[in-house]
Amino acid sequence: MSPSHSRRTRAGVAGAAVLAAAVGGAIGAVASATSSTDPAAASAAPVVTVTAQPPETVAEVTAPDVEAAEVDSTVTATAHPSVDDPDSLWVVVNKTRPLDPVEYVPGDLVRVDGVPGGSAQRMRAVAAAALVDMYEAASDDGAGFSVSTAYRSYGFQSSLFAQYAARRGADLAETFSARPGYSEHQTGLGADVYASVECRIKRCFAAEAAGSWIAEHGWEFGFIVRYPEGANDITGYVYEPWHVRYVGEELAAQMHEDGTETLEDALGLPAAPDYE
Ligand SMILES: [Zn+2]
Repeated sequence: MSPSHSRRTRAGVAGAAVLAAAVGGAIGAVASATSSTDPAAASAAPVVTVTAQPPETVAEVTAPDVEAAEVDSTVTATAHPSVDDPDSLWVVVNKTRPLDPVEYVPGDLVRVDGVPGGSAQRMRAVAAAALVDMYEAASDDGAGFSVSTAYRSYGFQSSLFAQYAARRGADLAETFSARPGYSEHQTGLGADVYASVECRIKRCFAAEAAGSWIAEHGWEFGFIVRYPEGANDITGYVYEPWHVRYVGEELAAQMHEDGTETLEDALGLPAAPDYE
């Protein structure tokens, strides 16, 4: 499958998703109501065993076997997606913008079947489908990759951050691990990917076939490299060539065309170099 073919076949789905996000208030109300009363969601924090030093590696997440909730995506609104609504594909989470509610759980998480490592990980349905498409196109070009971690619950991030902080100190932990409620992984729209054990969650991923392929073609599938090189003062994080964020094809294409690297700049939001 060529990239251009992928783009055509994905366009309809992504367009619908953007529209869905535009009325995220209505959907969000449903999702939030579902999440707050769903015992599966409430217990979604996986048991974590951290066995290696950050930031070189991250703990494996064993995602609970939970099927996606039904979400009605039949909508007609045309407004731009919200940057505040956690159900929006344009939601911006950084060190000054925690998720609201802070323990948000996406209502449409599915396993990322179709990408190596993905069956143990979950993302929101539209992002998971796009990641599978991207993986297939990358593989066709000899640049396949695996999923390290995707969705992380508030509870998971809490235990992860606590372990990092206990071992390295809170100040140092905050340079590579988000506080609970401040992690983009909690949106269900982000994923860490890798191609080799040597460069897993390391900057050298950028020089590998998959890393350079994603940097060049990710936008065609609605993904951006969320923490680009040299943008620490804006994003609050050092270069993470392995962390991809689904924003939808419309916004990803716009950013590619404009040469805008950060989500903050693209959406007119202030820089978020540190916690307030
Ligand atoms: Zn990440």
